[in-house]
Amino acid sequence: MAKLELKNLKKSYGKVDVIHGVDMEIQSGEFCVFVGPSGCGKSTMLRMIAGLETITDGQVCIDDMAVNHLPAAQRGLAMVFQSYALYPHMSVRQNLSFGLENLRMGKAEIDQRVGDAAKMLQIEPLLERKPGQLSGGQRQRVAIGRTVVREPKIFLFDEPLSNLDAELRVAMRAEIAALHRRLGNTMIYVTHDQVEAMTMADKIAVLRDGRVEQFGAPLDLYNTPANKFVAGFIGTPRMNFLTVNRDVNGDAADETQRVLLPGGHSIAVPQGWHWPPNLDVATLGIRAHHLKISAQGELPFVAGAVEQLGGETYVYGQVAGQDMTLHLSGQAAVQPGESLRLKMDLKNIHLFAE
Ligand code: ADP
Ligand code: MG
Repeated sequence: MAKLELKNLKKSYGKVDVIHGVDMEIQSGEFCVFVGPSGCGKSTMLRMIAGLETITDGQVCIDDMAVNHLPAAQRGLAMVFQSYALYPHMSVRQNLSFGLENLRMGKAEIDQRVGDAAKMLQIEPLLERKPGQLSGGQRQRVAIGRTVVREPKIFLFDEPLSNLDAELRVAMRAEIAALHRRLGNTMIYVTHDQVEAMTMADKIAVLRDGRVEQFGAPLDLYNTPANKFVAGFIGTPRMNFLTVNRDVNGDAADETQRVLLPGGHSIAVPQGWHWPPNLDVATLGIRAHHLKISAQGELPFVAGAVEQLGGETYVYGQVAGQDMTLHLSGQAAVQPGESLRLKMDLKNIHLFAE
């Protein structure tokens, strides 16, 4: 267990800045997920933490001690990669014990750790096989086992499940979460998949272009996204966005308070928001399940494709030419092409000045 702090962490490759000064504090025992689109700098950050990449500026601190100049092997961390990087000519047992033998650990201790890890990860029957004789999921478990035996202070995972098929990914996701509950170690997990982030994390850091857009608990990010990027990245289906206008039809005091929707209805801005000066157009965000069909609804909607899933219905359509998705519970009687009105759950709208 260990606390990890990043202080104004920066990385440049030559003249190209890829990490722009990241500050973050990950508490001991937390499961933290770095999530963001490909190329946003997740692996680079993880590799700087691990000691596999030099730090251009700033600090990586483990338990309040800067480790910038400690070699990877002395940081007490262990990393699982997307490519499992198992030694093909060694048995599973040798793959697990190899790193410990290099540390000159006693045989009894090695056997104990390998046995415990194999049991925990349910790979005991596979110990004498070679990696080539294992399935993808089994190989991934061996790769995780290789870090478990080292009993690191912090586990680092870089997209460990992206080579697996969808079903196995879901199963392994649960296994890694269970591993975290059992061991209680600090873990940092990198993924581009926001569902993995939502389902596994205590804390999520959403990254974009080498910056942290928001850091917090999964549902805090979902319920109160700091900006339009986070709002659109976290949650399925993606949050609906509508371009809306400042409502200048009321009195002057009202103008900072009201939003003119496509179709002509006017609503109050959500609590805590106001129109910035000089801004007349903003983005309204609302999630698909915060809309319902109602003759008194604020928005005119034309249904496109309708997906009946039995217990729920998705309707993909448009509001004044802008895409909008509805998520209705049950079997909603909506026909493609139908014109309807939508009522927004006004407690759950977001406004973004972008
Ligand atoms: P992610 O893991 O989020 O997909 P990376 O951390 O691998 O992203 O990369 C972040 C950015 O840094 C990308 O724009 C990538 O092209 C760049 N980058 C990564 N490694 C190098 C390198 N060795 N030299 C130059 N640029 C690099
Ligand atoms: Mg990466």
